Amino acid sequence: MALYSQDFVERVRAANELSQVVASYNVHLKRAGANMLGLCPFHNEKTPSFNVKTTEQFFRCFGCGAKGDVFRFVQMMEKVEFPEAVKMLAERAGLPLEYDNPLAAREASRNSELKSRLLWCCSRALDYFEECLAGPGGAAARDYLASRGFEKETIARWRLGWAPDSWDGVYGFLLKNAKEPGQKEKVLEYALQAGLLRARENDRGGGQRSLYDAFRGRVMFPILDAQSRPIAFGGRVLVEKEGAGGKYINSPEGRLFEKRKVLFGLSQAAKEISLTGEAVVVEGYTDVIMCHQYGIRNVVATLGTALTEDHVGLLRRYVAGKGRVIAFFDADGAGRKATRRAINLFMEQDVPLAVASGLEMKDAGDFLPRYGADEFRKKLAQCRESFSYVLAETLGRVGNRDPQAMAVAVREALETVNLCPDAITRSLMRQRLAAEAGIPEETLPEPAARAKAAPGQTAAGGFSPAGRKARPPARAGLSPSTAALDMEEALQSHSGGIRRREAKLLRYMWESPGWCARIVDEYPPDEWRHGALADVAALIRDEWDAERQPSSAAIQARATNSGVSELLAELVFPDAEPLSEPDVSQILASLAGERRKEELRIVQRDMEQAQREGDSARASALLLRGTELRRLIMNNGNTTDDARRHLKRR
Ligand SMILES: [Zn+2]
Repeated sequence: MALYSQDFVERVRAANELSQVVASYNVHLKRAGANMLGLCPFHNEKTPSFNVKTTEQFFRCFGCGAKGDVFRFVQMMEKVEFPEAVKMLAERAGLPLEYDNPLAAREASRNSELKSRLLWCCSRALDYFEECLAGPGGAAARDYLASRGFEKETIARWRLGWAPDSWDGVYGFLLKNAKEPGQKEKVLEYALQAGLLRARENDRGGGQRSLYDAFRGRVMFPILDAQSRPIAFGGRVLVEKEGAGGKYINSPEGRLFEKRKVLFGLSQAAKEISLTGEAVVVEGYTDVIMCHQYGIRNVVATLGTALTEDHVGLLRRYVAGKGRVIAFFDADGAGRKATRRAINLFMEQDVPLAVASGLEMKDAGDFLPRYGADEFRKKLAQCRESFSYVLAETLGRVGNRDPQAMAVAVREALETVNLCPDAITRSLMRQRLAAEAGIPEETLPEPAARAKAAPGQTAAGGFSPAGRKARPPARAGLSPSTAALDMEEALQSHSGGIRRREAKLLRYMWESPGWCARIVDEYPPDEWRHGALADVAALIRDEWDAERQPSSAAIQARATNSGVSELLAELVFPDAEPLSEPDVSQILASLAGERRKEELRIVQRDMEQAQREGDSARASALLLRGTELRRLIMNNGNTTDDARRHLKRR
């Protein structure tokens, strides 16, 4: 359910003229034909490529790809989510907030009340930890921090603290500070939810619990959100002893804190990352803090997880189009796997990544005091861009240029290349891959044939329900059905990820009612994989059905998905790629194949399960369906193959 009514969102939009909002962020726009043009605020440039179409109220930068409507613009400038952008623009225009309906309003206020209570608890807890560090009980913790090389200003800037070895330290402090009426009863419950307290069943039973401090005898590192508010804590034990828990513990995940979405130090590093366009990801929070102390202020860390898609998206907001991310990985087997996984994640979002592997500087906290910041910077500058790393890891591992092993390696590297959504980058990588493998580029499987994907893995950028586990590619001796699957994969990677293909279909639907009817017929909007795209597809169909030429205003007025504005911006400022009949046929065929393959995977999984459970009737029914699907996939491969040949003849 949307938080704000569509009607309200539209009024906020109408009250905020895009070029004026853009100008309020010190972006100078000049009229250029039907558009306004200026230097893009999202990437560094000398020649303007940031366009605003005032008639339709969309922007698009042809340098870095930023695009959308006025809400999207504010989201990107302020690094906030859609509802916050609506709120900010409503305030800018002096409109009081209106919620969609009483339920949404209540839900929103409950959520925001809960959130503010949790934030209050974390904030007070932080005050408490800071007080404790400064107080007489904090001497040992202060000594520890000093011994680790943390300066006084650093401790103050990062708001480091000390949780005394007590069961009711934060507990008592929060109770004492809960002054609002009605807050006292609830405060401990909130503190429990915020992960500051833990609950233990009382021995006497009867469902009685007692609450106690979660962090005891630990040096505290607050984890802040984008607005610099504490949302969680990391605690390092000072004296290791039995039953004290791990050396490092973090607040549990909850309403405020989701590890996969948080980068430690981002609020402190954001400005420097935006300025330099470069972000460095290290492993531990002490490393982050030490880097900043040494003047390297574009450093962040993950919190005990590998880099996630969300992390990449977060970093992308700051470095997209102008810079890169440098990340550290271990050089052992597990580290190499993690590296490849991370490279693929970055590749999918087209964020340049440089890999620093097997360097002692990974422990920045030890490296910097010994070698200094200049040496650290020198090493950062030497980091390999991730594609070189991929080439070294694949081709570089083939001894004495054994042709068969080399072919496997080339296919493996191609898998990563195919994830890149940018056609130019992809083409450059293909050229380089071919050159380094010592083969003419044309002999790279055409079109970009990939090695057979492991079950649960899809082609370029595809949605993958079972995760994206990398598996060594299969060798020769493929059965006809897997060969068909390979063909299918190949075609997909040629035409790009599902999202890209669906986005392309939108352009066809937008362009002509004939194409629209055909696409709706073969690939109805409710089967589309990407929500925002499906919404727009359905709305375009409705417009043509009502015999109206679709317009961005009509679609926007009816769209409920906040991702729609970027899609509309793309339709308003289309790419130069021409539209053609064979192209649309190929996209449709490949998407149909995609659906069948997905079903085939499910059928295979269910069949294995049925076999394990001894349900032979079900197993054979599934076997039949699987065979049918394989046949369809193979035929589909042929159809698309025909379409491609047709394309080539032209
Ligand atoms: Zn730009």
